Amino acid sequence: MPKGHRMTEPHDAAARRAVAPVICYPVDTLPQPDLTLYTAARATAVKVSEVKVEPRGAACFRANAGQFFRISSLDGPQVGDLNLWNAADLSERFYSGKTRALHGTHITRGQRMWSSLPHLRPMATITSDTLEWYGIDGFGGSVHDVIGTRCDPYTGNLLAGGQYHHCCHSNLTRALADETGLPLAEAERHVHDVLNVFMCTGFTRDTGQYFMKASPVRPGDYLEFFAEIDLLGGLSACPGGDCSAQHSSDTATCHPLLVEVFAPAPGALDGWSVPALNGYDGTHGRGPAAKSAR
Ligand SMILES: [Zn+2]
Repeated sequence: MPKGHRMTEPHDAAARRAVAPVICYPVDTLPQPDLTLYTAARATAVKVSEVKVEPRGAACFRANAGQFFRISSLDGPQVGDLNLWNAADLSERFYSGKTRALHGTHITRGQRMWSSLPHLRPMATITSDTLEWYGIDGFGGSVHDVIGTRCDPYTGNLLAGGQYHHCCHSNLTRALADETGLPLAEAERHVHDVLNVFMCTGFTRDTGQYFMKASPVRPGDYLEFFAEIDLLGGLSACPGGDCSAQHSSDTATCHPLLVEVFAPAPGALDGWSVPALNGYDGTHGRGPAAKSAR
């Protein structure tokens, strides 16, 4: 029912609203990362590669299972839009919606980026977050959200008309096409809802609308991840810059981002293994034949 067109309330409206919520997905049975092991392994790690993401552009990077990757703010406040794929199978990709359902609207140290169905396993675990202190502000805002999608030229066209080519969606599409050799239109189909790195967002209390505000990120801040599987990543430096005012245009001040990949010493991850594919048998109630045809 459209807001502002409410029918008369039932006599027990207050009682219905007073029902206490329950958490949809309690996480006490969720497989937990061994952060102690990761921290010890990280202490042995050396940098093996880095890529700079230019303002209003995107770049791809690769992190093998067991490596760490760090996204850093360089010259000034800047938001990044992150896509992750299984390096060997682009159909296994980051599942923003389920990650949100499991961990909440924003993610930080100890929480994970989960992959799409039918895989549904950890792709990456956040091991370090220099913005962890931010918490949830008085507006309900926080950083590193999995509630936004990514700025894209289609929504821009819908709302304002025009042809803008440096939205995160287009930046990620170009970067993935360049990295894989896929035609642009095919690469575009693999671009998905992102982790909004450093972005400060929430929902307004009165209208429930998605909001953004100036990111608290400063040069030197970073978000670091442990790669649970072999990853191909794509990172866009959003044309919204710090996303304090607008995106999908060239008016905001933008800065580069840095991605660095670190490899732990041999043996540092003894006892750890790549997460198995999800344990559901995939038959959907139709018996073993369906499984083999999957
Ligand atoms: Zn963007």
